[in-house]
Amino acid sequence: MITLRARAFLASAVPAAVLLATFGPVPPAAGVPQGPSLDARVTAVSARELGRSWHPGCPVAPAGLRLVRMNHWGFDGRVHAGELVVRKQAVRPLLYVFGRAFEARFPIRRMRPMAAYGGSDTAAMKADNTSAFNCRAVTGDASRLSQHSYGDAVDINTLENPYVDRNGRVYPAAGAAFLDRRRAAKGMIRSGDVITTAMRRVGWQWGGRWRSPDYQHFSANGR
Ligand SMILES: [Zn+2]
Repeated sequence: MITLRARAFLASAVPAAVLLATFGPVPPAAGVPQGPSLDARVTAVSARELGRSWHPGCPVAPAGLRLVRMNHWGFDGRVHAGELVVRKQAVRPLLYVFGRAFEARFPIRRMRPMAAYGGSDTAAMKADNTSAFNCRAVTGDASRLSQHSYGDAVDINTLENPYVDRNGRVYPAAGAAFLDRRRAAKGMIRSGDVITTAMRRVGWQWGGRWRSPDYQHFSANGR
């Protein structure tokens, strides 16, 4: 390990080719070690790829959605490839948030598009999945369209961050073990942590503050 000072000296005095031969690839900035990165790629997504998470009549067409492929840290301490379907306008704020989460090594269990769960929020929550777009009614209130239908709401680590509906029912049921929010747990979202801080920075609001708390939920418009 060379010191920061030595690295700064080398960077200024030694040609890059010599550095490369001596120490391997030159880091992007002096003192910043190279390692795994978010490595995000944003592409279009088709109706076919959206599967049962979308159908004609949904408020946002596939053309208004994007598939974001990016890395995340897992509960096993390793880097995993994740996929998140979001509204076009939500790409930038969410890349910031998940970028900060990645830097902080905030663990995320899994990140799969809702098509992998046939659009079933219940199944996805049970699997502790992190997702955004899903054209569906509010879980526990079939009369209202969920903000996830617009693709600018995201649920993170659904088991460790359960949702309590207005009747006091907990989703997923096993999430009841995480209702004591004073007891920190891996993947739990808490006030002032990297997730809530980054979300606040991009102006997204947290369902964890609601009267019927939805600890997994963040959205652009607070719904
Ligand atoms: Zn949600």
